[in-house]
Amino acid sequence: MAGQISEEYRGQEVFLIGVLKGAVVFLADLMRFLTVPVEIDFMAVSSYGKSTVTSGVVRILKDLETSIENRNVIIVEDIVDTGLTLSYLMDNLETRKPASLKICTLLDKVECRQVEVTPDYRGFIIPDKFVVGYGLDCAEKYRNIADVCVLHR
Ligand code: 5GP
Repeated sequence: MAGQISEEYRGQEVFLIGVLKGAVVFLADLMRFLTVPVEIDFMAVSSYGKSTVTSGVVRILKDLETSIENRNVIIVEDIVDTGLTLSYLMDNLETRKPASLKICTLLDKVECRQVEVTPDYRGFIIPDKFVVGYGLDCAEKYRNIADVCVLHR
């Protein structure tokens, strides 16, 4: 993915937005393989309660520290599931007038999608299983596991 991104943005700069906290490990690995100039920032979001989750209303807990106007923005996600979080983020970030806005995700549960969101860069398509490790948590635990593992409850 880093090779593909570096090739597509050759001669330009990219602005990576990591979605906290799950994408931290992936972003750290991804950026080390990018050969174009990179800036990073983070956003933290949380869904409203379960009853409203289908509305796709997402609360921004931490916003960007700088403007993304006229910049080549890539949202870096750990996993796309229903797509609601990313759909909201895309709409929100589009209003800030980036030069371009793309999505890079390590994992994609395509069969769980509720809204149309298509990652531009995708590591792996996975089945509808709950995974932890490599930054991904269950109640804040397991983020430090080096591999992506299926959690058996
Ligand atoms: P979406 O809005 O696409 O349904 O949800 C995306 C977010 O849900 C991810 O950023 C992640 O925080 C969480 N999520 C979805 N599936 C999983 C999973 O299998 N494991 C973990 N740990 N988080 C998940």
